[in-house]
Amino acid sequence: MIELLDKMESFLSTPLKGFKGVGEKSAKILEKNGILTVRDIIFNIPERWIDKRHISKIRDIRAGDLAYIKAKVLNSGSWIAKGFLNKRVNGFTATVYDGTGYLTLRWFYDPPAFIKNMLSSKAEIYIYGKVNIFKTSKEISHPEIELASSDFMPQHKIIPSYNGIPKGISEGVYRRLMEQAVSAGRDILISLLPQKIKKVFNIIEIGEALYNIHFPDNDFSRPIWEEKKSPYHLSLLYEELFLFFSIFAMKKEEYERIQIPPLKINYDVVNSFLKELPYPLTDAQKKVIEQIKNDLCRPTPMHRLLQGDVGSGKTIVAIISALSVISAKKQVALMVPTEILAEQHFNNIRELLKNQNIKAGLITSSLRKKDKEQILREICSGDMQFIVGTHSLIQEDVSFRELGLAIIDEQHRFGVEQRNLLRKKGNNPHILYMTATPIPRTLTMTLYGDLELSVIDQLPPGRKPVRTIVLPESQRERAFKLIESEIRRGFQCYIVYPVIEEDNALELKSAKEMYQVVKDKFSYVECRLLHGKLSQEEKDEIMAGFKSGLIKILVSTTVIEVGVDVPRATVMVIEHGERFGLSQLHQLRGRIGRGGEESYCVVLVETKKLSKEGRERLIYFRDTADGFKLAEFDLKLRGPGEIAGTRQSGMPEFRFADLIKHAELIEKMKNNVETYLKSADSEYIKQLPRIQQLFFNRNFEYTKVG
Ligand code: ADP
Ligand code: MG
Repeated sequence: MIELLDKMESFLSTPLKGFKGVGEKSAKILEKNGILTVRDIIFNIPERWIDKRHISKIRDIRAGDLAYIKAKVLNSGSWIAKGFLNKRVNGFTATVYDGTGYLTLRWFYDPPAFIKNMLSSKAEIYIYGKVNIFKTSKEISHPEIELASSDFMPQHKIIPSYNGIPKGISEGVYRRLMEQAVSAGRDILISLLPQKIKKVFNIIEIGEALYNIHFPDNDFSRPIWEEKKSPYHLSLLYEELFLFFSIFAMKKEEYERIQIPPLKINYDVVNSFLKELPYPLTDAQKKVIEQIKNDLCRPTPMHRLLQGDVGSGKTIVAIISALSVISAKKQVALMVPTEILAEQHFNNIRELLKNQNIKAGLITSSLRKKDKEQILREICSGDMQFIVGTHSLIQEDVSFRELGLAIIDEQHRFGVEQRNLLRKKGNNPHILYMTATPIPRTLTMTLYGDLELSVIDQLPPGRKPVRTIVLPESQRERAFKLIESEIRRGFQCYIVYPVIEEDNALELKSAKEMYQVVKDKFSYVECRLLHGKLSQEEKDEIMAGFKSGLIKILVSTTVIEVGVDVPRATVMVIEHGERFGLSQLHQLRGRIGRGGEESYCVVLVETKKLSKEGRERLIYFRDTADGFKLAEFDLKLRGPGEIAGTRQSGMPEFRFADLIKHAELIEKMKNNVETYLKSADSEYIKQLPRIQQLFFNRNFEYTKVG
């Protein structure tokens, strides 16, 4: 095994410099683009192929065809034209004839000498490129050409065409490099999956698969190759998914090996608390509470992600989990990203647990020194059982007597480092991560594959869905009328802008600019401006004022804190709705409709900046209340990076896998990997990080646990 890996590694590290056809100049260009070794090119999978088995007749080709033609050059020459802004364009054209028709080859720049030479020779050439019709004549711009006498790689019938070739390197040079690389690697690069899995998925060895993808044989079929569905593509896709998910599986294995004494939950305490709840739990809440309880009773620490849409009632789940742990005589910490949220949770907890004889405390940076010292002492002695806090919780001076459970709310707002710091405040505590950012299941699996997943997929009964209205910006007055009538009825309102300040280039309404307008218009009530450039104290002061009802209108950027609960806010106006992602709009909308009153979300859009797709998205938003559905839609339309909260979490860049197309396969593979690795031989597991490195060519963040 190790020998094999060494051999593959050394092959992938072969410098391209020694390859045939790489002159001094090409080598320099490649180097400047970071292309030094076989590893740097061999995974650049072609997107198109030239199928030389079919030589098209010029008579038969149509606009849009990718044609491969054999024809004789009749004439050629340079041309000069005035281009955009009267800039001079030096171009080149040639006319060729194949016995059935004439074709113009056109370059909109001065092509290199070897091309001009080839075309001045009146020779017979092969031509490859996309056909267009200019006036009445057939043309190919910037075709690939080759002398018929030398052929494009006579040994291959189907040859690849690449994206991502550095400027200055011709397609031919790159292709010849690739040919040498994949030929040499054909027998060296073998699949790194365990035998059992190779059988189940019919895995073709990596070298063989790569060779057949780059230089297909007679089994080539354009649509299948172009959709990456050939058995060779699929083999590499499985390889990628297996190796990717094995990282998570290994982490899980490692979690499992940690032994802790199981908690002795006092069910009398928990059950009497459940009886006193002001509302019955939803079935979804009961389900996840059961899952968490089972984890807490096991002799290994819990690593669970609790997902639930805004307002689905995660807090009470967290409190019940906390109470269970406290009843077993351990401490619980709840970490949240902002002071205002910390306070909100703390007050909630105090209210709900008031009959429980539990000492809870709040620790934030605005605590007075004397109070802080007192709290720190109580945390240390174990007198304080439930501690809510911001980042202050992970400061060095905080030490617990026995932390049994760490809960991290809005977990995506914290870095890996911060989450680890909280975990280290205890001796392998149970951990519950919570997030209100609904993301599609496959995305969750690729981001948090090492965590167990609990989903609250149901809202408490009796919630009135927020009424969403999409209006052109020109009808802002209607939105303002609505604000006015809601304020007169004693309710509150948010107005959200995409930017803080005016930016002429973007021509966007800004929070600052519109704040003046809003303030003048609603001079009879308290309006305030909230944005990210304010200090934390200012933000907290404003949010507290809004929560208490003193401030009626909050003009804001998207900083409106996640998770903030202001039940009397019934209107949200979002300007430049076209600028926001669906998940982001959904998060914003989740701030209202929390008090059982009819609430309204008015999305103003600048119609002239709205594409057809943009209109579709907003209509979907208007008609869909389910955050997971919206996230799914966003994923399909705009890709994983656009979904709130995922960008910073380090999305993997797959070469073959596609989160949407391969959703089912991803789930299947993940389960397969976990089952397999449970019984895998230890040598294989030991080598896995190296295998992953070999295939993915990068280090995964792999944090040791415990
Ligand atoms: P989130 O999941 O967004 O954190 P919260 O935990 O803040 O949601 O809950 C939102 C609101 O719903 C709170 O006011 C809470 O008291 C209420 N709530 C939670 N569970 C239920 C339930 N089962 N029935 C009725 N109301 C509930
Ligand atoms: Mg919450």
